[in-house]
Amino acid sequence: MSDVAVGLDVGGTKALAVLVTREGEILDEIKSSTPHDAHGPAGVATARVLASQIETLAQRHGLDPVTLPIGVGMPGMVRRDGRLAFAPNLHSASGASFPELLRDLLGATAVAMENDGNCAALAEFAWGAGRDIENFVMVTLGTGIGGGIIANGELVRGQNGFGGEIGHMAVEARGALCGCGGYGCWERYASGGGLARLTTQWALEGRLPTLTARSGGAQSVSGEDVTRAASEGLSEAVDLMREVAWWLARGLANLVAILDTGHFVIGGGLSVAADLLLPSAREFLEDLVFGFAKRPPIVVITSSLTVHAGALGAAKVALDRQP
Ligand SMILES: [Zn+2]
Repeated sequence: MSDVAVGLDVGGTKALAVLVTREGEILDEIKSSTPHDAHGPAGVATARVLASQIETLAQRHGLDPVTLPIGVGMPGMVRRDGRLAFAPNLHSASGASFPELLRDLLGATAVAMENDGNCAALAEFAWGAGRDIENFVMVTLGTGIGGGIIANGELVRGQNGFGGEIGHMAVEARGALCGCGGYGCWERYASGGGLARLTTQWALEGRLPTLTARSGGAQSVSGEDVTRAASEGLSEAVDLMREVAWWLARGLANLVAILDTGHFVIGGGLSVAADLLLPSAREFLEDLVFGFAKRPPIVVITSSLTVHAGALGAAKVALDRQP
């Protein structure tokens, strides 16, 4: 049994590889761009980048990639057998089996796969803001909303391995179209992408007059403009952040009703705006959560592992599922 593992967090733009000990200490890391080769066989271009990262880490630390536990976190539907069934933000890799590709490229024999949000949840549970909390939900606010559910001390993987896709929970019947093909998904309202969408909508409706004047047109106002202006106290921006916080709370309240979870760990790019979002979201939860007054206080905190959560969790998966 190896006491170190490589964890890979493959995003739509970047792939982060870390070498991690069983205690969760990061010994080394490499960041690369994720290729999008629409013409080659599914996932091969991506697998080549990952193989090179693994090889470099193995060489630097005198490890053998054939036996080294390797965990791969992918944004999408990851089957229990390791095949990536569907990845809306990584189309070129949809359908690929990374354990097979990495075996072909490196001879690697100990490759485990998991959804990236599930990885982040496992890392926070083992070493981060969810440590020893038997029931919590990891909510990753990026372009979309990823996540992972820890219930009764275990990751909810589901029948196929697709558990925890909380971003595609509908929060608005017949709402905004989502990249998944559905309508009204939570991630169209409460993520970085949701903020961008609402920003354009509000600007076109004339509800962001100051920001529209500053940027030279309604279509030019960005989500970053809104978060920056909100932190400076511009009221129209503060109002929009409260709207996003309401949608965040709407989804959290649904999860409370289903899971009776009392604890949320918020990560992802938009969590840099946590100071603007979480106080309002906590306030809205009082109205939105079923039986709020009869429950212990609901804790909503930010991730402590931040950008490393996914890669650390992938390494944890590799260590825990060694063949
Ligand atoms: Zn969706």
